[in-house]
Amino acid sequence: MTQNKTSTANAAFLKPIDKTPAPPKATKTQTLRRLLGYLSMYKAKMGVAVITALLGISFLTSLPWLLGYGINEFIEKGRVDGLLTIVLLMAVAAAGRGVLMAIHYWLMADVAQGAMYALRRDLFDHMQTLSLRFYDRQPIGELMSRVVNDVEAINQFLSGGVSQFLSSMFTIIILIIVMFSLNVPMTIAVLTVVPLMLGVMAIAGKYSSVAFTDLQEHLGELNGYMEETISGQRTVKAYRQEEAAAVNFEAISEATKEADGRANFISLVVQPVTDFLSNLDMAIVAAAGGWLAIMEGSITVGLVATFIGYSRQFAGPLSQLSQLYNMVMQAIAGAERVFEILDEVPQIVDKAGATPLKVTAGRVTFEHVDFSYVPGTQILYDNTFEALPAQKIGLCGPTGAGKSTIINLLTRFYDIQHGDITIDGQSIYDVTQDSLRQSCGIVLQTPFLFSETVMYNLRYGRLDANDEECIEAAKMAHAHEFIEKLPDGYNTVLAERGSNLSQGQGQLLTIARAFISNPDILVLDEATSSVDTRTEKHIQEALEKLMKGRTSFVIAHRLATISDSDNILALERGRIVDWGPHDKLLAEGGFYHDLWMSQFKVELMKEKEEM
Ligand code: ADP
Repeated sequence: MTQNKTSTANAAFLKPIDKTPAPPKATKTQTLRRLLGYLSMYKAKMGVAVITALLGISFLTSLPWLLGYGINEFIEKGRVDGLLTIVLLMAVAAAGRGVLMAIHYWLMADVAQGAMYALRRDLFDHMQTLSLRFYDRQPIGELMSRVVNDVEAINQFLSGGVSQFLSSMFTIIILIIVMFSLNVPMTIAVLTVVPLMLGVMAIAGKYSSVAFTDLQEHLGELNGYMEETISGQRTVKAYRQEEAAAVNFEAISEATKEADGRANFISLVVQPVTDFLSNLDMAIVAAAGGWLAIMEGSITVGLVATFIGYSRQFAGPLSQLSQLYNMVMQAIAGAERVFEILDEVPQIVDKAGATPLKVTAGRVTFEHVDFSYVPGTQILYDNTFEALPAQKIGLCGPTGAGKSTIINLLTRFYDIQHGDITIDGQSIYDVTQDSLRQSCGIVLQTPFLFSETVMYNLRYGRLDANDEECIEAAKMAHAHEFIEKLPDGYNTVLAERGSNLSQGQGQLLTIARAFISNPDILVLDEATSSVDTRTEKHIQEALEKLMKGRTSFVIAHRLATISDSDNILALERGRIVDWGPHDKLLAEGGFYHDLWMSQFKVELMKEKEEM
């Protein structure tokens, strides 16, 4: 070990994990305002939509007035000619309203889709900036539920709810103005049911708000479980847990059904109640109008008819508003969960003024590195070592010792709490993440392949690589031979996660991918013995070629594969207990020696058994 300098140069920059206090939870109004903020980009379109709605509603309110006028002026006086004009005018107003409202809904749908596009883009882009620490905390299905279900609840509200809300509110306001200007006592008769309606809406709202938040959470849990069970099908089947999985699923599903029932029961009860109130309103208006016309003679029969028409027009938007309440509540519940992700601060960010990493030789150092994934559970203790340019460093130690963690830190998937990691003298915390990851190539034991063509998967290493370069790399990695035999060669579409390839073939593909990205520093998770001898030989040869001239870190599962390393780093419970070449460590008779001997004994026993 050559580094002894205590380096806390970056300690001020590196934040302690998870110590930032959670921001206070936004109120429902704040959440709603933030959600509506997504519409503010479309002020002009919304302005036109508002004007068309106002005009459309004006046409609507003219209908009962025309009706009353027709009764008073033409029916009562027996003038058929004028009646025809009135009927024609009413038809024009009705058609005009239809056209204007269609334009209104079309514009609002356009605005809503634009807002949804922006929200989905923000969400996806933000999720790409979040560190692995965030993904460690969240079940993938639960996250997917937020991205799909919660976003859909918001979509329902923005694309239907907002325009319904606007047109209902405008209708109510315009009707009140028109009615008051026509007759005050009759207007009061129409408004008698308003307090009752508001009371019903307030009670329903109180319960449905809780019920909808509950429902969205249950849906999240349901999706989480479904995702885990589907992606883990192999394990579920292997351990014959199908029945247990079904029982668990049923329990979660039952809870979701109940939450759904509670949430929807309220809206189901509200509908008949508001319908009743609306019909009651018509009766009240007819009675009041009749009394004023017959007993007092203060109003005409035509005006009674007009107000009966208004009472119908008034109750509709009012009950629609009460229905909308549910939609708004569901959207707010969804928005709260979506904004929670959007507000998640990326833990791993480029330092202000970070410059691109310049790899001149490939010297990598760890200086007194301490690390924990979660506070209170330290994983690495004071790790200090140095890899010289083009050296091969073998990492070994029992499972859980921290080998993969060292690799996670080198590529800055997680930030350390103390110490420093440098490449050619530059701290990895002073350089851009992009340049760092471009310089470090990773070949994992269980490669991740996308369900796209072989060529797409190869080009993932470097997007501007052309077909010839990809084929050349596949040849270097001994992958060309089997790719050629696939049904469509390089254009064969792989099954999800490459499950139609053998594990060894998948490995060869990722080795080819690493050739294409041509990194300065290599990280290899050595293949286990689950591949056949011929493929294993191919993998070994390809890896040897790949490592040539590059500083490489190899996580070894069988010590024989790292015995030719320039230095071997043996880890035990997060501490470096041995460091040096194979022969030296064997001669010292320490931890590595014991590991080697125990593995050697196991192999000897296996050989004996086979004989
Ligand atoms: P190795 O590669 O040597 O088998 P790892 O580096 O994977 O060991 O793990 C070291 C320790 O860190 C283990 O105790 C493991 O449980 C823990 N660990 C690994 N990954 C995470 C994670 N994402 N979150 C929390 N703990 C983790």
